Amino acid sequence: MKKIPNFSRRQLLGSGAALALAGCASAPPPTPSIGRVVVVGGGFGGATCAHYLKMWGGNVDVTLVERNAAFISCPISNLVVGGFRAMSDITRGYDTLRAAGVKVVQDEVLAIDPIKKTVRLKGGSPLSYDRLVVSPGVDFMFEQVGGLEREINAGRVAHAWKAGPQTELLRRQLESMPDGGVVAMTIPKAPYRCPPGPYERACMVAAYLKQAKPKAKLLVLDANPEVQSKKALFEKAFKDHYSGVLEYRANAELKEVAGKVAKLEFEDVKADVLNVIPPQRAADLAKSSGLITVNQRWCGVNWLSMESTAVPNVHVLGDAVFAAPLMPKSGHMANQHAKLAAAAILELLQGNQPNPSPVLMNTCYSFVTQRDVIHVASVHQYDAAEKIVKTVPGSGGVSIAANQLEGRYALAWAENIWADALAG
Ligand SMILES: Cc1cc2nc3c(=O)[nH]c(=O)nc-3n(C[C@H](O)[C@H](O)[C@H](O)COP(=O)(O)OP(=O)(O)OC[C@H]3O[C@@H](n4cnc5c(N)ncnc54)[C@H](O)[C@@H]3O)c2cc1C
Repeated sequence: MKKIPNFSRRQLLGSGAALALAGCASAPPPTPSIGRVVVVGGGFGGATCAHYLKMWGGNVDVTLVERNAAFISCPISNLVVGGFRAMSDITRGYDTLRAAGVKVVQDEVLAIDPIKKTVRLKGGSPLSYDRLVVSPGVDFMFEQVGGLEREINAGRVAHAWKAGPQTELLRRQLESMPDGGVVAMTIPKAPYRCPPGPYERACMVAAYLKQAKPKAKLLVLDANPEVQSKKALFEKAFKDHYSGVLEYRANAELKEVAGKVAKLEFEDVKADVLNVIPPQRAADLAKSSGLITVNQRWCGVNWLSMESTAVPNVHVLGDAVFAAPLMPKSGHMANQHAKLAAAAILELLQGNQPNPSPVLMNTCYSFVTQRDVIHVASVHQYDAAEKIVKTVPGSGGVSIAANQLEGRYALAWAENIWADALAG
């Protein structure tokens, strides 16, 4: 019988280390990246897409370009306007996304070259991509309301329809107006970002006035023929909580602004605080890059991948997209677009086809008092025959009544969706 050699512990450890080193030397090289994806816009759509590309793709290079230093959420910003939350509650940094492996660049994308597959930056060198994601949100159609751009630039009128300094400006204006003064707020014709958002804002402003300036009035001038979302629930809130404070007028379209005077078709309304929500379209980058295909406002996409119908290898998400029927322009929906696009891009980069029957869903919560909330929900599914996304019959619905439990859900929803977008 062959004798088994005796090894000392030290010899064994040494040989083990040698084997381990030999193993290292012959280990296969790290898997090469499956491609480079550049994401423009670190809001609800872009940040979520960057996060999920990295989480699901691993060995994919993801660069997110965002012009702002921090993510500031429009959802919950109406509570800041009303004085019930602080700016710090709706502001998050991008470090968690960096820690998840996304290269975050603070810069502005000036142009897209779809032939060379590069994006030109305001500050840094151009970035090359295999697939580009564009989620730039909305910009305003100032040409539709005379004088509006001038008054907003001068800081006399606030829109507060992009969260940040504008949210703070509107809050300051409300705080410094006299008791007995008038706040006028105007709502553009649909479609616009966040269908229930203006009515939630009306409730938050009225709640503040009722509490702090009981002799003041809020005039809601809506260009639409009626409340655009959760109609019965908002009308009930206006009546139950804010009668005597809030007056709602339908079919009141803003034509021109001069100082704090809102000029409608047949009358002028003089206000102490004028909050104009301007008409909107896909953001400037979408316009200058030829991504806008519908009504000179919105970007058409292939709903299986969110790829632009006009510019190959460029995927558009969020509010900039020409929405499918009954699909709202919401942060929740931008988050869903982002996940659909991330999954599709990872397949396409590997030569595979995307999921042929994607499903998206949406929930929008709205505060009608500081604590009471209402929601609307819907589910949307791709229809292969018509190549569009349709609401699933019987899905979704609205709250039976405003309630405080949904108030807690709404705040939890916000914390969760911020974490989902920013990986932390
Ligand atoms: C008052 C208010 C309340 C709302 N409440 C809700 C709510 O309760 N629930 C809900 O689901 N939705 C809500 N929304 C809607 C939600 O905010 C939007 O639908 C969502 O932000 C859309 O996401 P997005 O990615 O398309 O755009 P955004 O989130 O606006 O992100 C776009 C980003 O792109 C950046 N960007 C643009 N162009 C460039 C460029 N050229 N270079 C670099 N960066 C660029 C911008 O700085 C911005 O950060 C609300 C909106 C408002 C105004």
